[in-house]
Amino acid sequence: MTFHVLTIFPEFFRGPFEHGVVGKAVESGRIAIRIHNLRDWTYDRHRTVDDRPFGGGEGMLLKPEPLFEAVESIWPERGPGRRAVLMSASGRLFDQEMAKRLAGMEEILLIAGRYEGVDERVAEHLADEEISIGDYVLSGGELAAAVVVDAVARLREGVVGNQDSTRYESFSSDEYGLNMLDCPQYTRPAEFRGWKVPDVLLNGNHAEIRKWREAAAAEKTRRMRPELARRRADSLPGPLE
Ligand code: SAH
Repeated sequence: MTFHVLTIFPEFFRGPFEHGVVGKAVESGRIAIRIHNLRDWTYDRHRTVDDRPFGGGEGMLLKPEPLFEAVESIWPERGPGRRAVLMSASGRLFDQEMAKRLAGMEEILLIAGRYEGVDERVAEHLADEEISIGDYVLSGGELAAAVVVDAVARLREGVVGNQDSTRYESFSSDEYGLNMLDCPQYTRPAEFRGWKVPDVLLNGNHAEIRKWREAAAAEKTRRMRPELARRRADSLPGPLE
């Protein structure tokens, strides 16, 4: 799978994709990440990518011409396996379901906005979709794009060493097609500063461990994300433990 990122700060991505499972996946050729400098599609002396908003108001916007030209030259043809995504605080909220859907693409191209945002014609006529990574405003789409690349890449076959670990984790659908947070996990030492690991995890009884993990995941989901727990409870045959 190939990830493209279109940005005015290509240097920004020197670090984020060089570590851990994403870095390894790039090295092994399972995924490719191509960073494109938006200014390569400008023709004036100052390589201008922004302009003032019509109707007045604060700041500058990324202008449409370089963005359209860039996408059209990276992808002379669009197709169902290619998805152009505008990173935007007013986009649809990114979640694990969306990550799974994007992981089914051959190529995705993430457009990182800057300044006060991007000329709306990019959302309307260039991007296939608009994605927000959360209800807060970042100063640019680069961090958001890095989040999407990471979450999508690790769902591709062979990127995470043990594929089971992406099946049993927070937000992965269970048999009811619903989402729950991961259960609390512990490693050695069994007692640290007086805090003990739950006994059940030490006794080797896998049926009991499984039961404990389900209950602990449900408890943590209720405590941290009551709205997720409610959504799940609504669709379950019986009440949650
Ligand atoms: N004026 C805009 C914010 C622009 S922030 C507004 O009020 O919504 C500049 C750029 O940062 C955006 O164009 C977008 O690409 C990126 N960005 C900011 N917040 C984001 C978020 N929550 N998710 C994804 N991208 C975001």
